[in-house]
Amino acid sequence: MKIVVPRECHQGERRVALIPDDVERLVRKGIEVAVEASAGSGAGCPDEAYRSVGAEVSTRREHMLAAADLVVGVRSLPAEDLARLRDGCLSIGFLDPFQASGLIEQMRSRGISAISMELIPRSTRAQKMDALSSQASLAGYVAVILAAEALDKIFPMMTTPAGTIFPARVFVLGAGVAGLQAIATAKRLGARVEAYDTRPAVEEQVKSLGARFVKIDLGDTGETRQGYARALSGDQLDRQQEALATVCAQADVVITTAQVFGRQAPRLITAQSLNRMRPGSVVVDLAVERGGNVEGSETDRIVETGGVRIIGLANLPGRVAAHASQVYSSNLFHLIGECLDEGKPRLRLDLNHEVLGPCLVTHQGRILYEGINPSANR
Ligand code: NAD
Repeated sequence: MKIVVPRECHQGERRVALIPDDVERLVRKGIEVAVEASAGSGAGCPDEAYRSVGAEVSTRREHMLAAADLVVGVRSLPAEDLARLRDGCLSIGFLDPFQASGLIEQMRSRGISAISMELIPRSTRAQKMDALSSQASLAGYVAVILAAEALDKIFPMMTTPAGTIFPARVFVLGAGVAGLQAIATAKRLGARVEAYDTRPAVEEQVKSLGARFVKIDLGDTGETRQGYARALSGDQLDRQQEALATVCAQADVVITTAQVFGRQAPRLITAQSLNRMRPGSVVVDLAVERGGNVEGSETDRIVETGGVRIIGLANLPGRVAAHASQVYSSNLFHLIGECLDEGKPRLRLDLNHEVLGPCLVTHQGRILYEGINPSANR
């Protein structure tokens, strides 16, 4: 069985799917691993480190892909690479099945099996494979560091002979995995932190981190069986925007992380809310790649409106590529283990497997994930 780790093609992507430590563990299982030259260089993993644990390192990308039983990536392979894979090959990565339906269709028609990391169930059993969580925590951390750097104030309180500096006020919207890490990081830096989420269940978690939970009465908001937030009605969103504007007006930093699984991100901060914020304050929009929580935020740009800086940088985990790759690689290692036939170095995909079943998007010429094709023949 041969696993191939190609260099990531997406512009600015520094993460690598497997780091040498995990390659070594796979090689010990009798699996061959081939890594494209310089695939790990952006994440602090030189070619030599892969060679030293028994991987083949090659510059012949086309040749490697054609020989792969399993191709692992952070993101999906581009169409020209998919065309090189063998019938029956398995491809794993953040495949973005909600937006990249063309690539998914190409995989289906070529007989490629595809596992989408976005669809790993958020269950205790799947925790070690939960790459959404491993990457989101890092994104939450990076968001606070970016905000602290951009803000014209310091985060902690300081009592000095020249007077008292009060702590910066940070407001985190969306207290999922990224939001909770943002709260914890801002608290560690000494900020006064408030947070809000539509899921009442997170109130306790927010409080346990020492932050204040902002309550807004929107009636029934609910959550899905997987624990994801439901999309709000138009009326609920209007009421929410109004109430959030008041809290934002007092904040020095607003970090937005609100997502609704598989859909456009909800718009939480309007231009009017931004107008009420103090010039010099900072907004970081973690949902920018899904349409953004903040009016006017732009992917991979920092825009300024009325003196408020809106940071819309994409791929925040990629800014800490060494650690992001370390935890992603660990997620993949455990996932690959679930794809092996009784631990032997050969693949066996069980459609009824409680982790693999839900995240297998294409298999044997069929689209299995209903989010892409409602008439899927599962
Ligand atoms: P996410 O990225 O989908 O969304 C981020 C947060 O935004 C969520 O907390 C959501 O409730 C919130 N949100 C959505 N719409 C909003 C709105 N209009 N206003 C304010 N907030 C809004 O969430 P996630 O971090 O991926 O977590 C999703 C779920 O999975 C959570 O219930 C989490 O606890 C759960 N989870 C479980 C496990 C596990 O059991 N192993 C692991 C990780 C996450």
